[in-house]
Amino acid sequence: MKDESIFKKIINKELTASIIYQDKIVTAFKDIKPKAPIHILIIPNIFISSSNDIDEKNKDILAHMFYIAVQIAKKKKISEKGYRIIINCNKDGGQEINYLHMHLLGGKKLRPLS
Ligand code: AMP
Repeated sequence: MKDESIFKKIINKELTASIIYQDKIVTAFKDIKPKAPIHILIIPNIFISSSNDIDEKNKDILAHMFYIAVQIAKKKKISEKGYRIIINCNKDGGQEINYLHMHLLGGKKLRPLS
């Protein structure tokens, strides 16, 4: 798994990335290798390694990430047709970067999971 520094650099604008939204809690940017016409990553501004590290203190950040993902879906006009929100966790879940991130995918009919 790659370390968290890539996403930390994106938040701090030390790395070129297409940031489409940022507030005090989260940053949203285009995935560098999009798997759909719309593929946005939403990450917390504070480092959380994976969904295993969601706890009593930081759980509200997840609600905000979800809320922002939906706002972006509406703004990108994919909310009516639909979209997918994914969080991969660790090796079996397919998490490549050691920094909690939410994928927002849409803009085409996505393949069923099974
Ligand atoms: P995951 O497999 O859930 O860990 O997803 C990691 C995602 O980060 C992949 O979809 C990558 O294409 C994406 N990614 C890696 N590096 C960058 C980057 N510098 N800018 C934007 N997206 C990236």
